[in-house]
Amino acid sequence: MSAPKKGDLSSSEKELFEVITAGNVQEASRLLGCKDVRVNCLDEYGMTPLMHAAYKGKADMCKLLLQHGADVNCNEHEHGYTALMFAGLSGKTDITWMMLDAGAETDVVNSVGRTAAQMAAFVGQHDCVTVINNFFSRARLDYYTKPQGLEKEPKLPPKLAGPLHKVIMSTNLNPVKMVMLVNENPLLAEVEALGKCRRVMELICEKCIKQQDMNEVLAMKMHYISCLLGKCASFLKDREDKLEGLIKSLLKGRDSDGFPVFQEKFIRECIRKFPYCDATLLQQLVRSIAPVEIGNDPTALSVLTQAVTGQVGFMDAEFCTSCGEKGAEKRCSICKMVIYCDQACQKMHWFTHKKVCKKLQEQREQQEAESARLRMQQSNGKDKQGVTQSDTITAYYTDAFL
Ligand SMILES: [Zn+2]
Ligand SMILES: [Zn+2]
Repeated sequence: MSAPKKGDLSSSEKELFEVITAGNVQEASRLLGCKDVRVNCLDEYGMTPLMHAAYKGKADMCKLLLQHGADVNCNEHEHGYTALMFAGLSGKTDITWMMLDAGAETDVVNSVGRTAAQMAAFVGQHDCVTVINNFFSRARLDYYTKPQGLEKEPKLPPKLAGPLHKVIMSTNLNPVKMVMLVNENPLLAEVEALGKCRRVMELICEKCIKQQDMNEVLAMKMHYISCLLGKCASFLKDREDKLEGLIKSLLKGRDSDGFPVFQEKFIRECIRKFPYCDATLLQQLVRSIAPVEIGNDPTALSVLTQAVTGQVGFMDAEFCTSCGEKGAEKRCSICKMVIYCDQACQKMHWFTHKKVCKKLQEQREQQEAESARLRMQQSNGKDKQGVTQSDTITAYYTDAFL
């Protein structure tokens, strides 16, 4: 069959576009089996069935089309939109992920020079931006699991690729969470393995900087992970309490207000040690962090997270005080000022939180008393005003009657 031309559709292909809009996966599956249906046919605007399905936010349909060989990087759309751009516009993180996993290029720009991540950001789909900016395919990592050139052994033992990829894909950059990810895998939580993984992270970081379309964001993330793995290795080597000790150090708050100073200093140091001094992202991070006194906002973690994942507004969701995961709901029952994923996260934090819990409780009670007093004052004021007003009215009538 010849290469699809815009708007050149068989009747079954026209039907396919209709059933995609309607979301009828079964019917789409039947049509894709027809001889006169090309999975990468183009409608009059140059949109493929996959672009339609992505834009409409229909995950099952996207999956079906990809299974039938849909080209995720087709670029015939009249304004240069790709399936990944449509996925980002739809706001569906699962579809965005699916496109990336199918090999979607992230650097392609549309006719006005915007990438998929920039377009998603432009329409406020920040979760999709996060997914795109942090994507690093397993295939790109697996490259290091095969010996290259004269190497007798690969740089990365294949058994480490899975657990390392999990760390790389984490959109939560909280070092506690990342150490937890290392700690949960015995293959990875081992000095020699960590050394190898570190080396690969540094190589990828270098590649990200030196490749033609430089990706400073991914380079910074790889460097950050490398620093973290290095820290894990040194705790495994030197400390009896191993990675639990590292987690404790990262969580330990200072006496005055519970602020985790070690964590803040560690992240600042990671950023400072980024090996490519000319990188714009590095300069931007340093400018944001350097003037901030330790303990004040913004924290190095929040600046780094925003730069790397595009996540803004740490405020509109609840984040675990220990590990930084989104969607934490369990409040400390005493002070009610900190929030955790579960009891495990609370337990991990208690050794340091207990020193400030009482203080936080008092602060909260003071605040509550203060706002109750204000509310009372306001409502008293209203009453008084009400009384005065009715008095005035009474007087007026009295005058009038007199
Ligand atoms: Zn947690
Ligand atoms: Zn508490």
